[in-house]
Amino acid sequence: MPELPEVESVRRQLEPALVGRRLEHVEILDGRLVRPYDPAEVATELQGERVAAVERRGKYLVVRFESGRVLLIHLRMSGSLRHAPHGALQDDPHGRAVVRLDDGSDVAYRDVRRFGTWLLLEPDEAGPYLDARVGVEPLETIFTARHLGDRLARRRAPVKAVLLDQRTLAGMGNIYVDEALWRARIHPLRPAETLDDGELRRLHRGIRAALEHGIARQGSTLRDYALPDGGSGSMQDEFRVYGRDGEPCDRCGTPIAKARVAGRGTWFCPSCQPERPRSTGGPGPVAEPDSLHTGHRRQL
Ligand SMILES: [Zn+2]
Repeated sequence: MPELPEVESVRRQLEPALVGRRLEHVEILDGRLVRPYDPAEVATELQGERVAAVERRGKYLVVRFESGRVLLIHLRMSGSLRHAPHGALQDDPHGRAVVRLDDGSDVAYRDVRRFGTWLLLEPDEAGPYLDARVGVEPLETIFTARHLGDRLARRRAPVKAVLLDQRTLAGMGNIYVDEALWRARIHPLRPAETLDDGELRRLHRGIRAALEHGIARQGSTLRDYALPDGGSGSMQDEFRVYGRDGEPCDRCGTPIAKARVAGRGTWFCPSCQPERPRSTGGPGPVAEPDSLHTGHRRQL
C-alpha cells in the first residue's frame, strides 16, 4: 500500500503535469471509485475545472482547483496514476478513470484491487474532512519529539499500532513504521506511553530518516505501485527490516525476526530492538544495587 513516500513521489511527478491545466474530459469507468456518488455526475462536475495545486496530506493526493474545490485521491491498496500523451496509454483492464487535459495529455487511474477513492469536495469541506482523519505531517517543522510524545502519551497500545493510526501522524504505514522503529532501536510491541525522552528523540529522528530515505528512492515498488511516468521506486532494495526475516541486521548481524503486531506482518531486530530495554538511568530495575546494599538477595 502506498505510504507517505510513495504518494509524495507521485505528487512530485504529477504537479508539473497538472498545475495550470484544465480538465477537458473526464471518464469514470468504475462507480466504486466515487461511491456513493454517481460516476457520470462526478465526471461532469470535474470537467472544466482548472488545477491550481497538487498537494499531499498523509496518504491523500490533494488536487486543488482554481474554483476552490478539491479532489481527494486515495490510492489505498493498489491505485496508481499514469500521465502520458493522449492515445499513448494502452487499453487497461484495470483502468478506472481517464482525464484528458487541455494540453492533449491524459491522466489515467488504474487500480487492481479497487479500494482507491476519488472524492470531490466543495471549498469549505476539504479542511475539516482531512483534519478529522489525518494527524500532523511528520516532515513539517511543527512535528517535534515533544509533539510525538504528546501523541503517544496515555496510549497503552503497542507503539507500532499507534503509529499506524493516521490520526497520530500522517502517512505512516506498515513499511515505514517498521523501518523507523528499527532506526530508533525500539521494539514494535512497546506500549506507546512507556517511551522515555531519549527514545522519543530517537523515534522522531527515525521516522523522519525513514520517510526521507523513501522519498529519495521515489518510494518502494512491491506490487502495483508505479510512478506517473511508468517508472518504479527503488526503496525496496534498501529496506533495513521490512520483509527481511532471517537476513542479518545491518547494524548487528542478528537475524531479523518477524511477528504479528496490530494484525500486520512486522519485522524487527530482536537484538537492537529488545522488548524490555535496559534502564538508561531513569526509573527502572534497581534490584542489584539494593541487594548489594542490604547484603542479601531480594526474593522476586
Ligand atoms: Zn540488530
